[in-house]
Amino acid sequence: MPEPIRKGTLPCTPPPEWEFTTVVGGQSDDPGVLLFPGNEGPVVVRRLRIYGDWEPVRPDRWMDEPHAAGEAASGVQPNQPAPDGRRLALLARAIRDATCEGNCGRTEEECEAASLQPVVWHHGVLARVEGTPEQIAAALLPAIDAFARELTAKVRALHRPVQHNGRTICAERSGWDGSTDNSPVAYDQCRTLRALDGPDSS
Ligand SMILES: [Zn+2]
Ligand SMILES: [Zn+2]
Repeated sequence: MPEPIRKGTLPCTPPPEWEFTTVVGGQSDDPGVLLFPGNEGPVVVRRLRIYGDWEPVRPDRWMDEPHAAGEAASGVQPNQPAPDGRRLALLARAIRDATCEGNCGRTEEECEAASLQPVVWHHGVLARVEGTPEQIAAALLPAIDAFARELTAKVRALHRPVQHNGRTICAERSGWDGSTDNSPVAYDQCRTLRALDGPDSS
């Protein structure tokens, strides 16, 4: 039993019908035809290719296409990337940005020590790179830090300080909506903010 084949790894399937149009001869008001002596042109030759439902592999031999994480569960259309799809794309871009495309001006040895190296381009897009685990990690770190900062900023925006009866309290923990019925939590006592500040904050 041969391995199933993944569609995405094959070249594009041609459309079921394809019309080739060839114009022979120059522009002229005379609707003559060049196929016979004395014809003036232009003449249009049409050829129709019909592929029908041609597929390079029997339909039952296709492997399932991989989905971006979260896509199947949320039913998000492929052209509208799920949040994970966006993050994956940003990480992939970080890897591409850290890959030398041969214009860094360093010697080959220096470049290999400092950058990821391109291995395969697919339709002009960098498809495969080579590098040490440390180089890949270093390429991803800024993007991962940026995700963390984005998330932290969202949580901080919820736990904003508000003034209530002469005290500064945490909006989120005090159930603030312009006023509060809860017992207010002082802003500098908010455990969430303290946790976000982390063990290495001063
Ligand atoms: Zn280089
Ligand atoms: Zn808070």
